[in-house]
Parts: sequence; C-alpha cells; structure tokens
Amino acid sequence: MTEASRPVRVRFAPSPTGMFHVGGARSALYNWATARQQGGTFVLRIEDTDAARNKPEWTEGIISALAAIGIHGGDRAFEGPYFQSANAPLHRAAAEKLHTAGRAYYCDCTREQLTTRTGSQQLGYDGFCRDRALGFEEGRALRFRTPDEGATVVVDLIRGEPAFPNSAIEDFVIARGDGSPVFLLANVVDDIDQGITEVIRGEEHLSNTPKQQLLWQALGATPPVWAHLPVIVNEKRQKLSKRRDKVALEDYLAEGYLPEALVNYLMLLGWGVKDDVEIRPYAELEQLFKVEDVNAASAFFDVAKLRSFNGEYIRALTVDQFTAACAPWLAAPRAPWQPEAFDPTVFAVLAPLAQSRIALLGEITEQVDFAFLDTPVRDEASWAKAMKDPVGATALLRSVRERLAGAIWEADALKAELEAVGAEHGLKLGRAQAPVRVAVTGRTVGLPLFESMEVLGRERTLTRLDAAVERLA
Ligand code: GLU
Repeated sequence: MTEASRPVRVRFAPSPTGMFHVGGARSALYNWATARQQGGTFVLRIEDTDAARNKPEWTEGIISALAAIGIHGGDRAFEGPYFQSANAPLHRAAAEKLHTAGRAYYCDCTREQLTTRTGSQQLGYDGFCRDRALGFEEGRALRFRTPDEGATVVVDLIRGEPAFPNSAIEDFVIARGDGSPVFLLANVVDDIDQGITEVIRGEEHLSNTPKQQLLWQALGATPPVWAHLPVIVNEKRQKLSKRRDKVALEDYLAEGYLPEALVNYLMLLGWGVKDDVEIRPYAELEQLFKVEDVNAASAFFDVAKLRSFNGEYIRALTVDQFTAACAPWLAAPRAPWQPEAFDPTVFAVLAPLAQSRIALLGEITEQVDFAFLDTPVRDEASWAKAMKDPVGATALLRSVRERLAGAIWEADALKAELEAVGAEHGLKLGRAQAPVRVAVTGRTVGLPLFESMEVLGRERTLTRLDAAVERLA
C-alpha cells in the first residue's frame, strides 16, 4: 500500500489526571470525525505513566464522557483503550535502541553544573557529555543527540510547515536517572507501535513536536502528519483552565446540556462550515469536517452561545424525548419534591410549556416545582417585588380568591376572571397577575399562569392564595 492510501489511524491520548476537559472532548471529536469519515481508526490510548497523578476513576470518567459524546467501543472505528503503562517494555527497548545506535548518550551533569557552565538557568543542555561515552549508571539521564545543523520541518495541517532550527533543539532527556523513559519518548513509541498516521492534538504540544519528529526518524519510522488545534480561551481571552473556568464535560452534562448540543458546539470551536449554518447534527458535521480547515487562532468558549445552542436542541426534541431527557431532574436526589408527589400526567401538561422556555434541562425543576411541592418555594426577591404594595396586593388576592371559588376551572376562564378582577382594582392583567403568580408558584417568572393554575387545581390554588393573604397580614 502506498503512503497516501494508508488508511488513516488517529488517536486520542488523554492523561487520566482529572475531570474530562471540554478541550479534550473537542480533540477527541476532531479525531473521531477524521477517522469515521475516512473509514479509518480512532485509537483511544490512556497515557497513564504518571503514577503519582493518575487515578483509575479518571480513566473511567474519560471512557464514560467519551461515550456520552458518541465515541464508544461499539463503533467499528474505535480501537482500544490501550494503556501506555502496559507498553513500558517497548519504551525501554526504544531508549536502548537509540543508545546502541549512538543516537543517545548518558549524562551525569547536574542542573547546578549546567547553570555554572552556561551562566544561565534558561539555556538548554550544552552537550557536555555528548562524547564522554558514559555507560548507564543509576542517576545518569539518557539524552537524545539532536542534529547540529539544518532544521526540523513539521508538516502541520493547521499551521503549515513550521521549521525548527536544529541548533535550537537541545539534547533532551529521553530516560531519567532511574532508567524510566520520559513521556515524550513513550508517546512517540506508542504512536509508532499503534500505526498512527495523523496526530491531532492541542497546541500545547506543538513545541514538543520537532523533538518527537526527530525521535520518529531516529527510530526508523515515517513521522505522522501533525495537526495542532488552537487553544480554547474564556471571555477574557485567557486559556481555559480548571482553576478558573468550568471545564469539565461532566459538569455541563450535569447542568442539563444535551450531549448533541455539546458535540455540535465543540465541533465549532476552531472550525466551521463556510455557509454559516451552525446548528447541524453530528452526522453532517462529521462528513463536512476537515482538519485542514481548522483555524489556528485561539477559539473562544462562549458559554452563552452554547446555552443558546442547547435551547435550540431542547426545542427540537419531541415532547416524549424531552420528557425522557428531563427524567434525571424529576427524581431524587435532584428533584426538590417528595417522590410520591410527582404526577406524570401533570408533568405531561407542563412539559410542552417548559420545553419552549428553558435552555438547560436542569432548569426544569424550578419551572414545575409549584405543581409537586406542598407549598410553593419562597423566593423572597419575587415576593418583595410582587407584594411591594401589601394593602393593594391583599385586596386583590382576596377578590381573586372570591371569584375563583366559583370559576370554571380552565385556563381561558381563569384568565377572564383575573382580567375582570384586575379591572375592578384598576389594574391591567399583567399587574394583576404578578401577586397571584407569586402566591401560587412562589416566583415572578415561570410557565403561563393560567395553565399552571389549571393543573394545580382549585383547591390547592385557593389554599395558596389564602396563605399569601395571611402572610401579607
Ligand atoms: N497525554 C497527553 C495529554 O493529555 C496527550 C499527548 C498527545 O496527544 O500527544 O496532554
């Protein structure tokens, strides 16, 4: 098979050191789309060699988060997961091979000695041990002998062909004093071993790339094509960080972002189709995606835009799908009401009303809690706003209560009743509604009031009006 017709093999190689980051999700999706659209393979490799920082639960978190965005072992494009730690013998063999071939040498220089020689802590290694022919001894690092002349040109589908002068690439360490290979080498050895043809990863790895490409060549392999994805920044143009920003994919899912909306939004972080259509199902994005079209400039993670995408995805669901998607928020521990108080037939009436109003599934509880709580929530700000004229509010609520006691219990009729009472009190419907809404639902904003009262029923509505009058007194 010629080089060009080699089936594409990409990989996603996260380190299991924390929650699964939205930036990781984007890298994974770009790799996934590349593999799937070309009938290639997506390798999942868990880079778990940093024993001090790795935890098995992070690995599980990665696998389940990937599944949530549609990347899973059930698909024929998926291969793995492989664990970097399992490849340790191969990493050591590669280090030895490089040493035997004269491409790497042992070095016993200390940081202090180097600083004294170069007069700076900033400068790279000066090559002092290059020709000392030291053998392995505990404490001696193995350094790769980088070429003195020429340049290492990496072919990067997003950044063109940056050239790195070899004279500026220090003889870097490939195995530590205890003999253990460093990440840089392990990463290359695994990529070679797993037949990777394209490395699509975050920009933070670009500076490692010339070193890694030299390793590929020194190990007798044809380097891959690289693609370094732009950094993701917040609204202050700062790199998204877990200390400052909400970055865990799980947190977004827990707030009620739909996986499909997240996937759609993440695919557009640094890439887009020229037609400016933004909302598209993943299957289409997958076909249209081209890593060459990814922008090198940093990508703004716009939470407001993600939220609006999510609202659109929510509205595109059927009511049944919407109800199913809401299920986790309608039950313990998320729902604030007693489990037995939840009534699916009531929810079925409210669901379409809520579906057109919320942007996050997590917002469903506050939309419908009035129907399932014994007494409505007490939102003090809403109360203060709607009842700021306690005398007027009391008078109004009393009249409403009186009228509703005998009203036809149906939304249109309830509306007409309230209009009539409002008129008696010299209030337009909107003004008359506010105290009633707060009395009945606890909040100044929410689902259409008369539909809400209809499902709540006469008895409970009147009880709430009474309670509000009492509280006003
Ligand atoms: N394990 C590295 C990371 O999580 C990825 C390195 C790579 O993609 O080459 O940042």
